[in-house]
Parts: sequence; structure tokens; C-alpha cells
Amino acid sequence: GSEPPTPPDDNINVVVRVRPLNKRENSLNDGMTLEFPGNGQILVTGLNDVPGMKGTKTKLFSYNVVFEPGATQEDVLQYSGITRLINMAVDGFSSTAFCYGQTGSGKTHTLTGPPHLFTGKKVDIYSEDHGLIFKSFLYLFKVLQEKKECHFILKASFLEIYNEKVIDLLNPGTARKPLAVRWSKKSQRFFVENLFLVDCEELDDLLAVLEEGMKNRAVGAHMMNEHSSRSHTILTVHITSEQQMENGVFITKQGKINFVDLAGSEMTKKTHSEGKTLEEANNINKSLMVLGYCIASLSDHKKKNGHIPYRDSKLTKLLADSLAGNGVTLMIACVSPARSNVTETLNTLRYASRAKRI
Ligand code: ADP
Ligand code: MG
Repeated sequence: GSEPPTPPDDNINVVVRVRPLNKRENSLNDGMTLEFPGNGQILVTGLNDVPGMKGTKTKLFSYNVVFEPGATQEDVLQYSGITRLINMAVDGFSSTAFCYGQTGSGKTHTLTGPPHLFTGKKVDIYSEDHGLIFKSFLYLFKVLQEKKECHFILKASFLEIYNEKVIDLLNPGTARKPLAVRWSKKSQRFFVENLFLVDCEELDDLLAVLEEGMKNRAVGAHMMNEHSSRSHTILTVHITSEQQMENGVFITKQGKINFVDLAGSEMTKKTHSEGKTLEEANNINKSLMVLGYCIASLSDHKKKNGHIPYRDSKLTKLLADSLAGNGVTLMIACVSPARSNVTETLNTLRYASRAKRI
């Protein structure tokens, strides 16, 4: 830590969050494989252990912002640029924030905070540990309260994509009967048929959506970590604002923000597994690859007007309108700093670099 980083202000922002070493890694004397020279840079050391990297000692990567292991949840809210996505959603733009990384790298921690926040009897709204989603809700309500000239309507949905099937986390019955993704000619975008859209008048309503979805995600899965490493979740807040102009005319704007917790990126190579797992791995592999490709194409102006393969996965179909729109895409690449994870960390850092050349 030197100076606080400047929040990014491009249409595609890539930040990296490095979690602290965990107890096991500490006790194994695993050690750090990352160094932080500052200025949004990460230096990967210990590459001797990585297949195909023989002879390379270190590798330097650059991003908009790097959150070192000591960074707090509040730091991520303040400096990731997420507040800009929220401001834009209020102004009628569609944006997406997603966490990418191997299982155990801190994606869910970053988005929703530690699980105990949601397994107790009541969510402690004052906890500092809350993730980006809840902290964004608080920030959103502050923004809405300042805009007295507008009338706002908020709706929220929370879904899971598991093995290319869409499950409504607010209506767990759909685990047995997945929802269809269809193309709307009228609004020129993909949508999920019969997805619950919950009216949210107050902060508590948004919190209830988050809580309910987290509960259903855990209940539906026998082994929480197994399951969550193979599924993507999308929590979406839709914001409609109505404002009467001086000439009496009403102006309506529709914006939204997607919070996406992606499947574990390590799945992309586990194609040696068999049966159902192989199909799952292939689906995850494909959707993460297509997502990376779509984002890289968007940040490359030459490709921007060409063909971008949103239709190749459910995940990218559902994110297409916000990725391609005038909003902002925020990638939070989550990595472990441990030497024992260096191969996956390197893969994640490369994926994040491809999304945006800095
Ligand atoms: P993922 O969702 O990527 O699989 P998790 O968010 O579940 O990973 O994190 C794995 C473990 O590491 C959890 O026990 C989580 O509480 C812990 N953890 C992750 N990031 C942090 C962090 N920044 N600070 C403290 N603990 C963290
Ligand atoms: Mg997780």
C-alpha cells in the first residue's frame, strides 16, 4: 500500500483482488508468489513450478487497480469503480460487475462476504464484512435519496446458471424445471422467461433478495463448494427513473446493474473428468472462454463492430445487452497469493490481461 488508487474510468475496467494467505497455506509455510510494485502492477515470482514456464523467473502484469491482501471490503467498494456503475445504472445505463477466478480465490467473499452473514438467524446489516453487492445497495439508496427530482422503481432478480440450465434462486422450484432463455424482438435482447422480478421499495427488500438467493443456492446444493464452483450466479437490479421536465413532459430511463459470481476458472482445464462432470466442465469452459472473448472484442476497437459471439453461451446471452451497451464492465479477477496456487493465479492474471490491454 502506497497511495489510494484512482478508480478506473474506462468502459472496461479490470481490477485484481488478492486474498490473504489462509490458515492452511500459512501453516504449510506455502509462501507468497506475488509481489506488489504499486501502480496497478503485480509481479508473479516462483514460475519455475509452472509447466511451460521453465527459464522464466518472473512475470509482470498491469491492471487498473490491484487490491493487495490487506484491502478491506470497503476499499473494494471505494476504488474498484463500482460506484460509477451504480451512478450510471441510476442514469439509465446497463453495466456488469463480475468476479472471475479459481475456486477458493475469494469471488463469493468479494461479492457477498463470508457465508456466516447469511447462515445466522438475521443478517447483520452493520457488519463491515459485507461484500460488494450489499455495500452497493447501501450506496445506491444514498444516490437515490439525493435525486429528489426523480421517481424511482427498483426491481431485482437472482438466478443461477448450472450446466447451461437457468434456475431462479428466488423460486427454487425451477431447479427441477429450468427456465427458458428467449430472444425478445421488441427489446432486442435475450431474457429469461418467467423469472421472478421482485419489487424493491426499500433497502430491506433488496437485502431480502440477496438473502433468499444465497439461502436457495446453498440449499439446492448438497456440497456448497462443489456446486458453487460449477455454477454462475447473476443478481440484477433494474432501475427505472421517471422525471417530469419543466415543460411537463415525463422522461423515463431504464438502467440496470448485474453482479456476477462466475464458476471456478480451474474448471476450464479439468476435461479429464468423466460423464456429467465432463459435460459440466465443457459448459463452464465454453462460457468463460466466450465471456473472455466477448470482453476482449469490446475493448478492441477494431473488433468492436465485428461479430461478437454472445449467442454461444447462456451467460453471455444474458449479459450481452449490458456488455455491448453504453454502460461499464468491471472485471474483478480474484487470486490466491500462495505459491501452491501459482499456476491458476497465472491463468487468471492472463485471462484478466486479455480482457484489457493496459
Ligand atoms: P470462491 O467464491 O472464489 O470459491 P470464497 O469467496 O468462498 O472463494 O473464498 C474462499 C475462502 O477464503 C473463504 O473461506 C473466504 O471467507 C476466504 N476469503 C476469501 N477472500 C478473503 C479475503 N479478502 N479476506 C479474508 N478471507 C477471505
Ligand atoms: Mg464461491
